[in-house]
Formats: sequence, C-alpha cells, structure tokens
Amino acid sequence: MFIEVVDAFRCTRPHELTWLVAQADRLEDRDIITGALGCPICGARYPIAAGVADFRAAAAAAAAARRSPPSPAPPAPDLAERALRVAALLGLTESGGLVVLAGAWADAAHEVAALVDGIHVLAIDPASHVSSGFGVSVARADDTLPLRPDAVRGVALDAAHATAPFVETSVAALRPTGRLLAPAAAPVPPGIVERARDASDWLGEKHELTTLARAAHPSG
Ligand SMILES: [Zn+2]
Repeated sequence: MFIEVVDAFRCTRPHELTWLVAQADRLEDRDIITGALGCPICGARYPIAAGVADFRAAAAAAAAARRSPPSPAPPAPDLAERALRVAALLGLTESGGLVVLAGAWADAAHEVAALVDGIHVLAIDPASHVSSGFGVSVARADDTLPLRPDAVRGVALDAAHATAPFVETSVAALRPTGRLLAPAAAPVPPGIVERARDASDWLGEKHELTTLARAAHPSG
C-alpha cells in the first residue's frame, strides 16, 4: 500500500466521511508492507499484510483462520492485451492520478502502471501474482469500493465486482468526467452517461456537475 494513496481511502462503515490513519510497522521505500489503516470515528481497523490492505469485514478472522490460496497468473500476452484495452477505454493518456482496476482487470495492474507514466493503480482483489509496489497498491474488499468522493479518474469492474453497491461506491469515488468500465450485463447507474458499448463491456463517463446545473437552469 503506497503511503500517498492512504488519503484516498474511507471507512467502509456507514458514518460521516473521514480520513483513515495509517500505522506502518514495516515500510519499504514508500510502501506500507505491514501495518494497518484505522478509522478515528468508529475504531475500525483494516490490516495491511504483505503490502495488501484488507477492507473485508471479516478480515481479521479470515486472516487468522487461513491464508488465501495462490491463484495462477494469466499468460503474459493476455495481461498485455487486457492492459492495452483498459488503458485505451479509460483514456489513460495523461500522467497522474489514481485508477482502480477490480478483479480480472486488476490482474494487469503492473502492465497498466508500466504503460502510463505517473499514474497509480489500485488493484482490488487481483490474482496472487500482483504485488504492491512500482505504481501499484493492492487491496481486498467486500461489496464496496472503500474510496473517498472524487478520488479516482477511472474505474474498471469485472463481473464479480459489478454488484449494485460496488458500482454505486465506484460512481461516488469517480471525479467528474471520470470513466467507468463495467460488464455489458450490468445496468448503467445514475450519474453515469454511457459513451460506448461492445459485446463484453460498456464505458461510461461521470456527469460533470456544472453541465447538469446549466441544463437544469437554462435561463441562468
Ligand atoms: Zn469508521
């Protein structure tokens, strides 16, 4: 977990928005390898182990019970193709900012980080070959994206992460005109304008608030 990304997170519990406080027991370069993120309001604690932040409600119990089994890495050409597709669709041409890749998209997190200078990729629930560092942070999540409003420029969701709560929290985390990529079977949520669609996915853009305000008050 890259230390500069900590500011983008929020507590997953329903209360007013707050920053999480990072505790770093082991730091490598500027990545927290072992530690935790804590909520100053409700006291929730999200552990960081092997560079991976765990936002799952049952994280502590699950970690104590067993380590997640290793999942095989997809072949390199598949990952390269996936990275090119998601970078093109999310419009990752300018440097800077935070991009969220969830599930199958997250398997290509390092390929995407290598394609675009200066962006940071938050990989949610990737296969076990994806480690934290070199422009990539890794987190495990339940059914919501634990990020603050306007924190990210683009989000790509696979089928497992295209649930209504995950989509809703993704829209909230996008900055205006930020892009959302989701499976074709998922409904396009409020706040998102569909821009493109093919057999597998649709691409949408978050409303720009000023445009909406102008449309609502045409005389002003
Ligand atoms: Zn909290």
